[in-house]
Amino acid sequence: MINKIYEILPEFLQTLLLNAVKRIKIVFYKLSKLFIPSQKSKPEIIHEFNLNRKYGPLPRVCYAPYTSLFLSRLGYISPCYASYNPESSHISKESLKTAWFDGSIERIRKKHLNYDFSECSLCKTLLEQKAFGSLLINKYDHYSFSRSSYPRIIEFELSNKCNLSCIMCDSNLSSGIEKAECNNISGNQFYGEKFFEDLEEIIPHLHLAEFTGGDPLIIGEYYRILELIKKLNPDCSILITTNANTYNQKVEWILNNFKKINFNVSIDSLDAENYSKIRRNGDLNKAMQNLERFIEYSRKNKTYLNILVCPMTVNFHEMADFVNFANEKNICVFYHTVVKPKHLSLKYNKNDYIKKNIKNFKSLKFPDKTKNQKTNKKNFEELVKLVEIWQLEQEPQMQKIQNQYSELSIGEIEELLFKKIGGEEEFVNYKLQTVLEKYKNSDDYKFLLSKLARVENQKFIRYLREKETDELLLITEDIINNKK
Ligand code: SF4
Repeated sequence: MINKIYEILPEFLQTLLLNAVKRIKIVFYKLSKLFIPSQKSKPEIIHEFNLNRKYGPLPRVCYAPYTSLFLSRLGYISPCYASYNPESSHISKESLKTAWFDGSIERIRKKHLNYDFSECSLCKTLLEQKAFGSLLINKYDHYSFSRSSYPRIIEFELSNKCNLSCIMCDSNLSSGIEKAECNNISGNQFYGEKFFEDLEEIIPHLHLAEFTGGDPLIIGEYYRILELIKKLNPDCSILITTNANTYNQKVEWILNNFKKINFNVSIDSLDAENYSKIRRNGDLNKAMQNLERFIEYSRKNKTYLNILVCPMTVNFHEMADFVNFANEKNICVFYHTVVKPKHLSLKYNKNDYIKKNIKNFKSLKFPDKTKNQKTNKKNFEELVKLVEIWQLEQEPQMQKIQNQYSELSIGEIEELLFKKIGGEEEFVNYKLQTVLEKYKNSDDYKFLLSKLARVENQKFIRYLREKETDELLLITEDIINNKK
């Protein structure tokens, strides 16, 4: 109800109301910190986060386990995409209802009550880093006013069917990559008839159904779910996250039959050449044409459309261009937190390119008159802040490695080397093992390990990915010969 009233207010009144309520809540919150015992025992970082939330302090740290269901392609059921693990409820063993009321989602609720975020490593790290603006938790604050005991949001990631093979993706989420790696497309493996029956009880309670993939526009199961939504809860909002490379009669059916579709369009480069290097098999022209169609739909139906960008080591220089692009189109740009693969992640790489761009980005000024301009500016600044924190974090770690390696044992340096490639595909691991195996019994083994430990992470991973094992052995041979 409060949500509905808030949503029909004009933008300036929304902002005024939000700020006024937030201020009052902050005053009461600060007072409660002094007098209420449960507030006194709350970790300081949670207090700090509460003072920085969009809606002001809230009773719970995260509302995802109370409002949201995420259905992963591997069959695990969790509150959000970042909280499933092998201990999560699985659709092959539990119904949606059991998972929600008694299964692993209830377990996460209980853990959160004790500020235990052991199943939420992404948010835990961001909280510790005080990168509050980048927290996934923020997404669910909007639903903190919900009083229903059923989920309000459901996020479907049922299949990996996709027409692209993006460099930051993997076979779990792209059938294109799966086909290239194992000559197989597994698509939807776990969600059968019983699941579709279960959904009929959940759908009438939903405010939002989110479809990801793979690419939702080519996943057959999603059209079946959309038919159910049309029948059981036609007022439900829909969010489709797409690479926008598909447009056909089925997509037209969606656009013509639903009035509340919102779009997240994934575009990681505005340069056709860079785009096709990142979004392999993708076509920037096609994506732009479809983006225009979806923007037109959103304007007509008063829904929203965002661009989603994966900032990486290959496109970081374009991040400010996205702000200008989004401002021009009067839409919003959001930046993902890319932590894998490591060689593309800004968290695990430190170099002049990243440093130079941070410096440049910090000197830029963006307009902030409209709501979208404000969001774009804020998202961009949060991104720059986060990447800067990541860069600073790497400094002492690298320094420590440089200083310590000579005092470390062979086993410890080996561990460091394998940590460098953590999160990379099996073949990278295999190549490193093969190279090290050759020198295991050599007197120069520790010398070689120490040299390799000093190689900058990005370069180290790039070599292992791109060079054949024979070439790598020649390089290591050279390192040893140069010692003599
Ligand atoms: S704390 Fe973060 S990872 Fe855990 S459920 Fe909430 S949004 Fe998901």
